[in-house]
Amino acid sequence: MLPVADAQSLILQHTQPLPAETVPLAPGACALGCVLAEDVVSDIDMPPHDKAMMDGYAVRASDLPDGKGALAVVEEITAGRVPSRTLSPGQASRIMTGAPIPAGADAVIVVESTRLLGGDRVQIEDHPPKVGHNILPRGREMRRGETVLRAGAVLRPQEIGLLAIMGKTAVQAVPIPRVAILATGDELVEPGEKLGPGQIRNSNGPMLLAQTARAGALPHSLGIARDRLDSLGPLVQEGLRHNVLILSGGVSAGKLDLVPGVLREAGVVAHLHKVAMKPGKPFFFGTLDPQRAAGREPAGAGRALVFGLPGNPVSSLVCFELFIRPALRTLRGHRSPGPHMVSATLSEDLPHATDRLTYHPAHLETGPQGWRVRAVPWFGSADLRGLSQANALLVLPVGDHHHRAGTVFPVVAMEMTPE
Ligand code: AMP
Ligand code: MG
Repeated sequence: MLPVADAQSLILQHTQPLPAETVPLAPGACALGCVLAEDVVSDIDMPPHDKAMMDGYAVRASDLPDGKGALAVVEEITAGRVPSRTLSPGQASRIMTGAPIPAGADAVIVVESTRLLGGDRVQIEDHPPKVGHNILPRGREMRRGETVLRAGAVLRPQEIGLLAIMGKTAVQAVPIPRVAILATGDELVEPGEKLGPGQIRNSNGPMLLAQTARAGALPHSLGIARDRLDSLGPLVQEGLRHNVLILSGGVSAGKLDLVPGVLREAGVVAHLHKVAMKPGKPFFFGTLDPQRAAGREPAGAGRALVFGLPGNPVSSLVCFELFIRPALRTLRGHRSPGPHMVSATLSEDLPHATDRLTYHPAHLETGPQGWRVRAVPWFGSADLRGLSQANALLVLPVGDHHHRAGTVFPVVAMEMTPE
């Protein structure tokens, strides 16, 4: 059985960023969180003119050697207007934040330090202004022809705004992976259907769709496959048309655990099956054989990554966090795949015996002394309810221990994204 760290690195060895595409930046498009695949050069100086940084009066500093004086107001310049008057000695223009500084002016006095007199005159009561006071010179933020963003930058809201400043409506970026999700099991019914004897609701489907969406990928539900070759086969084929296929259930050693065989038939090469961890031991990972991948739609989609998760809901969730989320980040072109680990101090004693490295649902919080963690009540691999108290997985070592409060443990911070 492979150790968790070896399984994680094996998966990443088989995972490459998706080829770049033109990604639109329009509102509602999916550029957020994508990784830029080109350098972006500014087509403008920013600011495009020497600009006022405050509402007030554009003045000649030399008119106000001690910061006080009455000046004649010759015009009003609002943002978007172009000044029409050059300031002569003794003159000022009323100016709004962002508006271009008129010729002749070399400082802006904030409106709070001024008082209007009659006859288009203004009284200034301020400190002596320095040349350039409250003025941002043209091109100070960025210059035309300057490389402002480089390939590899993650498109966060500020980068999307910056691209808008540069007039971009689309960029070359790593696209969002398309992920098919297939629940398997004769006992499953969809949450909206009537529950019969011996049946349980498909909770992994909706949960994995949500985890996929939160990982910045595009989930597509394939519904439920029954534990029969004729049901699994066609749905697996459909799933392999996506960048990633996630199956839940059917990967253990039971009589109806048909998934590994069906995947082999479909041309999936198994890279690992079974990991030394709790929960999640039966985890499976493979990739579509390149020969079989050729000719599959859409062209150029590359080799699908295939993850088979144990059906128990907590096992599914934990395997997603440890193995699939890092793979999705890598497909998206992010440099740090995660999972996001922190060292946290146990806040309560925890007796715990296990024969496999255990990822125990836990609650992680920050405080003045740094990260603190406590295990939440948990009744095994199917107990999803226990997980609703948790935001983290406490990593507990093999053996029969009485872990003491104050001991430091590695913790997977599930709600956080590594940067
Ligand atoms: P399996 O991995 O198929 O042997 O399933 C292990 C356990 O997880 C069984 O108790 C299944 O009923 C349960 N299970 C399998 N798939 C799901 C699912 N989609 N939602 C909730 N429980 C599931
Ligand atoms: Mg099953």
